[in-house]
Amino acid sequence: MIYPWQNLQWQQLARQRQQDRLAHALLFQGPAGTGKKHFARELATALLCRQADDSGMACGSCESCSLIRAGTHPDFRLLKPTPPATSTSKNPVLSIKIDALRDMYRALSETSQFGGYRIAVIEDADKMPVQAANSLLKTLEEPGKDTLLLLVSSHPHHLPVTIRSRCQVMRFQVPETAAAIEWLSESGVNDVSTALRLAHGAPLLARNFVENHAEERELLVRALNAGARGESSLAYAQKLAQMPRDYLLTWLLDWVSDLGRLMTCGSDAELVNEDQRKALEARAMRADTGKVFDLHDQINALIKADGIALNLQLLWENLLISWENI
Ligand SMILES: [Zn+2]
Repeated sequence: MIYPWQNLQWQQLARQRQQDRLAHALLFQGPAGTGKKHFARELATALLCRQADDSGMACGSCESCSLIRAGTHPDFRLLKPTPPATSTSKNPVLSIKIDALRDMYRALSETSQFGGYRIAVIEDADKMPVQAANSLLKTLEEPGKDTLLLLVSSHPHHLPVTIRSRCQVMRFQVPETAAAIEWLSESGVNDVSTALRLAHGAPLLARNFVENHAEERELLVRALNAGARGESSLAYAQKLAQMPRDYLLTWLLDWVSDLGRLMTCGSDAELVNEDQRKALEARAMRADTGKVFDLHDQINALIKADGIALNLQLLWENLLISWENI
């Protein structure tokens, strides 16, 4: 089943399929946490299913559906970024391996075992090294009959233009807040308003936050409010360095953006960290606008450098010093 906010995209593709004009390469792009990977797998499963229903949904019980579920369908490949084979890091740099791509090319060039489509899904396609992306071009330029490549990316601008231009782009967006809250409560996730704001409206990200990352955010908030309690935030650097860098940096960016918003727009400003409004307002009273924007740039640069391994303890010490000095 696709998510309720993906119906339009599904109908569009179902129409294209009925009219026999489905592209050979699709790029699903949009914010993280909107269910693009799930959608790509559902589409692949449906196209390979031997008895899909009228709306084009997979039956879930035929041989093909079972093989996909078991990860052994001969006409289906799923690629995703993996850490370097020798990495022991808690925050490893992930990339799509060229060997996995070679295996995919082989599978796509062979005759279909079931007489239908041969499909490959490449998750986080922007994490392909340049060399790998170049090798993909050939497949995009000379697609075999009944082959389908589904590229998924939350950062499509990191993909080479030569790749993007050869794919039919399908955009995914975050649903209306009310719809997201309804889906989250139906999935058993409650008290979601802060999580949904931190996730910028992306329901899956909000759910993941509530289920797996609430403690990390609490620690970050404690570190950022340490000064107000007369403590040093630097004491938190070591713990923060143990936690997932991407989440924490995004939250820190929102935190500093909130501060900037309060300083430029006053108390009417809408905040991501609405639950921390009092602490942020107090900090805004004694912060320097120029330094706040400098810190904002510093965090942004770190987020953009997410493919580069850094000393995380040092990174957090630097950030917390900058934070204390604004
Ligand atoms: Zn089926």
